Amino acid sequence: MRDVIVSFATLYSAMGAAVTIACVILSPAIVLSSLTATFARYRGHHWGKFFLLSMLITPIGGFIAALLYPKDQAGIDAFQVKRGYAQKCVACAELIRPEAKVCNHCGAIAAPAVARRRVVAA
Ligand SMILES: [Zn+2]
Repeated sequence: MRDVIVSFATLYSAMGAAVTIACVILSPAIVLSSLTATFARYRGHHWGKFFLLSMLITPIGGFIAALLYPKDQAGIDAFQVKRGYAQKCVACAELIRPEAKVCNHCGAIAAPAVARRRVVAA
């Protein structure tokens, strides 16, 4: 009976050590991969794809991949429109500020932004 108890105690302590090691290794990896994915997001890429890539090939590898991968201007534009930093002109499809009344690219009268807009305190 004593041997069984000792073997269970050994098993549980080994499991605890494994969980601790996994947490110590995974927590910084998750945080750094999130930062790498956010960096990639601001370059117009998909956040989740770069998060998974960073988890697979380490956050440093993911960061280098995000740096080497060319910027996706369409992704950046879509991100700015989604976040409310810009709206697309209905006439020329250029990005203009959400508060704009007239497009500064083509002179068309801009429709008021309906998308989520950041409230800026005056
Ligand atoms: Zn325009």
